[in-house]
Amino acid sequence: MRRHYFLEEYCIIAAERKKRPSDFRRERGRERSDPKTCPFCPGNEEMTPPAVAAYTVDGVGPDGVERVRDWWARSFPNLYPAVTADPEPPTREWVADRARGFHEVIIESPDHDADPSEFSRQELERLVTIYRDRYASHIADPGVGYVSIFKNWGRVAGASLSHTHSQLVALPIVPPALLRELEAIGRSPRCPYCSLVEREAASDRLIFENGRFVLIAPFFSEAPYETWILPKGHAPSLEGLDPRGLEDLAEALGEALRRQDRLLSGPAYNYTIRQLPDRRYHLNLRIHPAISALAGFERNTGIFINSVPPEAAARELREA
Ligand SMILES: [Zn+2]
Ligand SMILES: [Zn+2]
Repeated sequence: MRRHYFLEEYCIIAAERKKRPSDFRRERGRERSDPKTCPFCPGNEEMTPPAVAAYTVDGVGPDGVERVRDWWARSFPNLYPAVTADPEPPTREWVADRARGFHEVIIESPDHDADPSEFSRQELERLVTIYRDRYASHIADPGVGYVSIFKNWGRVAGASLSHTHSQLVALPIVPPALLRELEAIGRSPRCPYCSLVEREAASDRLIFENGRFVLIAPFFSEAPYETWILPKGHAPSLEGLDPRGLEDLAEALGEALRRQDRLLSGPAYNYTIRQLPDRRYHLNLRIHPAISALAGFERNTGIFINSVPPEAAARELREA
């Protein structure tokens, strides 16, 4: 049983189940779909709400009366938002808040069949720059407490459309999980993530590193082949990264996705970016291959059982 680095949480590494990467291989994470009916494809811009940001060679701007064409990425409001700018009043039963916020879809490439694990360095750098820009745009709103940026890849990981995209949800609150982290960080004499990076970088759980970032299979891994990307220097959010930092983040993300793709044969996965506009926080990006389901024990205890020790996962991902 392993304890979280600085929270009262536990996970169980049950290596005796001895699974190999091939035991996790199912059909590839993504199903094929038809670009003609894809609302995320170039030429079908009218099938989505107007873009709030379309990225072209000429720069970034919103759709006007005419939709922007020849984009290499575009971000627009989700047609089925989880939160809206002007929500219904909450139910009077129990405790409820108005789900005020903004829900955005970020199309990462005009290519219907693009796979992020095959993105070039330039595409990856553009991607993390878009994440930073969209984050900065929403976190500047005084009504926004948290900006969740995540990617679902493959239907079993929650992607309803196969054309590669990320999502952004701006919430009016800071989620309790993040508040608990902040409290624990506040009690610590030094940033526990900074300590975590130093220790993991010197361990057999390190998979890849460059000047500014590490890619690790964390000691506290709740799921097989879970990986984290962290800046070596303290930075609370993507806004704290200079161009060199964004380049190194892009490289680390590419390494993580390529190695995972090769080892697990193109699994479905989620990745999530954790960041806060609070200088005590330490930016991190977590990647979870969607290869183990929540089962009864996890629902009952909140404790995850992981059948692949992160030390073994890191070795396999280093060699992949
Ligand atoms: Zn498409
Ligand atoms: Zn730190």
